[in-house]
Amino acid sequence: MSELIDGKKIAEEVFAECREDIAALAAQGITPGLAVVVVGSDPASLVYVGSKARRCQELGMASFKYELPVETSQAELLALVARLNADETVDGILVQSPPPAHIDEAAVVRAIDPAKDVDGFHPLNVAKLAMEEPDGFVPCTPLGVQRMLLASGIETDGAQVVVLGRSMIVGKPQALLLMAKGRGGNATVTVAHSRTRDLAAVTRSADILIAAIGRPNFVTADMVRDGAVVIDVGINRIADPSARSGTRLVGDVDFVAVAPKCRAITPVPGGVGPMTIAMLMSNTLKAARQRRGLRPWSVRG
Ligand code: NAP
Repeated sequence: MSELIDGKKIAEEVFAECREDIAALAAQGITPGLAVVVVGSDPASLVYVGSKARRCQELGMASFKYELPVETSQAELLALVARLNADETVDGILVQSPPPAHIDEAAVVRAIDPAKDVDGFHPLNVAKLAMEEPDGFVPCTPLGVQRMLLASGIETDGAQVVVLGRSMIVGKPQALLLMAKGRGGNATVTVAHSRTRDLAAVTRSADILIAAIGRPNFVTADMVRDGAVVIDVGINRIADPSARSGTRLVGDVDFVAVAPKCRAITPVPGGVGPMTIAMLMSNTLKAARQRRGLRPWSVRG
């Protein structure tokens, strides 16, 4: 049986580091702050912003939550972003995705001060990731995946990594991060997507396979090489009459069939999911330090 990579446990390690850093900043009279903005009443989005705000409070950071009505205009949202950019008590700004259809999400992302863009979606931060500039912000989910690999002693140096999915939130930044020079990088990365020919042959070439496509149980045993490491980013809700709620969460990987042939695998839930919020907290602390010209707390893995 393969090793189960425990995302909750690794996320707790990140939170413990955050607490140390927050205490060190508090000793200098600094309270880092994260502003989370959500437009509309999408239940999943409200749950996400609620848990981000709660986690900030639990760690001892300031949290500013803005729940705006669905009819909020683009101009009103941009005005709020401008206020948060100018607010010295705010170190990180996050506008929950997806906003309602009338909002131009790309324009909102571009309006966020790149120094406070803790989601890492601003074009300047995308460029910094590509250029391997360490003061940029890397999107939280791929950063969390890299941290899981490091924490689990999985060597990326020289490894064949296949990233399944090419979104700006997961696939592309994941590929950039793992091909970058240095610890947790130096991989030979292939990015596959819906137009990839003979996908199973491509995924079978992976020492490390990272699935981020949003298709329940898509990666089957025949797509995975014996002894591979499989990281399942997918979060998909499917019908399950045996569950009390009538639904359950599954990943993009057919866990039951794939797990026995892997060296290590992440579960869903309890794998990559908890890492995303952990890296958001970590990015906010990085922003708090950088904005004040302070040295990074520590980089551990
Ligand atoms: P996305 O923007 O919808 O992108 C999906 C990617 O998968 C696209 O590049 C698409 O290819 C590719 N794809 C779709 N069907 C495919 C197929 N049959 N064969 C090969 N490639 C296929 O999704 P995303 O935002 O990256 O999210 C992916 C998954 O990760 C979702 O389940 C999401 O819920 C989950 N997620 C989890 C976290 C977390 O915290 N754990 C965070 C973010 C996302 P094309 O580009 O060719 O269309």
